[in-house]
Amino acid sequence: MGPPGVGKGTQGQRLSAAYDVPVIASGDMFRRVRVEESPRAREIQAYMDRGDMVPDEMTIEMVLDRLKKPDARGGFILDGFPRTIAQAVALDADLANQERPIEHVVLLQAPADVILARLAGRRVCDSCSKVYNVDSNPARVDGVCDVCGGNVIQRTDEAPEVQRRRLEVYEEQTAAVASYYRSSGRLTVVDATLALDAVQAELHQLLGAAVAR
Ligand SMILES: [Zn+2]
Repeated sequence: MGPPGVGKGTQGQRLSAAYDVPVIASGDMFRRVRVEESPRAREIQAYMDRGDMVPDEMTIEMVLDRLKKPDARGGFILDGFPRTIAQAVALDADLANQERPIEHVVLLQAPADVILARLAGRRVCDSCSKVYNVDSNPARVDGVCDVCGGNVIQRTDEAPEVQRRRLEVYEEQTAAVASYYRSSGRLTVVDATLALDAVQAELHQLLGAAVAR
């Protein structure tokens, strides 16, 4: 968990490579659903086109289906989900049935000004969604994705006012989800103002024990 721009995409991708588990990001799933041809995809597209929130039950169904794919059997990293208590409760219920509960929830935290400065340098691959930062984590060749050779671009909807508002909305939305996990002893808050490598080291310390079991 963490607000947009806090670095969770990059951290998730690194953990994914280190532990060989997929990152399941609801944002990427929604973007992919845009080009899918199925009744469910069309229904989700309609909500997105109207600028409405996709209803919880549709988001939940989409993510829970994804978690049943073979590559997620040995574990997974969720990014951008759950966003609401209803989603968190549904996730816990489904995974309890499968006897593979969510073990760790990490909240990456940083002051708004730090995040806004980082967002100004944020770039993203338009084909594989790998996240870069011109200051702290640039592509090896400017504008070209290290992984897939795709175009590394600045998403155009990210004006500073929009970003600040998005941070506020995020805070409001997810404070309850954070306390849900805090109350069940699964939440760890990590200071995301530290350098990428320092944050990654903390995450390895936290998750290493679980993976070694
Ligand atoms: Zn790429």
